[in-house]
Amino acid sequence: MHGSVLIMKFTNAITTAKAKPELLAKLTGEIQIPEEQRRTILTLTGTTCRWPFGDPARGEFYFCGGASEIGQPYCEHHSKIANQPAQSRRR
Ligand SMILES: [Zn+2]
Repeated sequence: MHGSVLIMKFTNAITTAKAKPELLAKLTGEIQIPEEQRRTILTLTGTTCRWPFGDPARGEFYFCGGASEIGQPYCEHHSKIANQPAQSRRR
């Protein structure tokens, strides 16, 4: 019972996200990281999320920098994405 409700909610979220690019970005992990939270390779620590953003070739590159559990490379948000099975996009 609960499962089907969750799936409905998720489907709704996807449908909504298609109309709102910033919502879709949230679902796909392309979140906006506040500048003060961003980390470079030099400022990463054992408890900061190292999910990469940007393109090193363009000089615009940083890590999420959110709080991560000790021993975990990513924050809660990015752990979820990292642990998701790769999904092929369907139209
Ligand atoms: Zn993160």
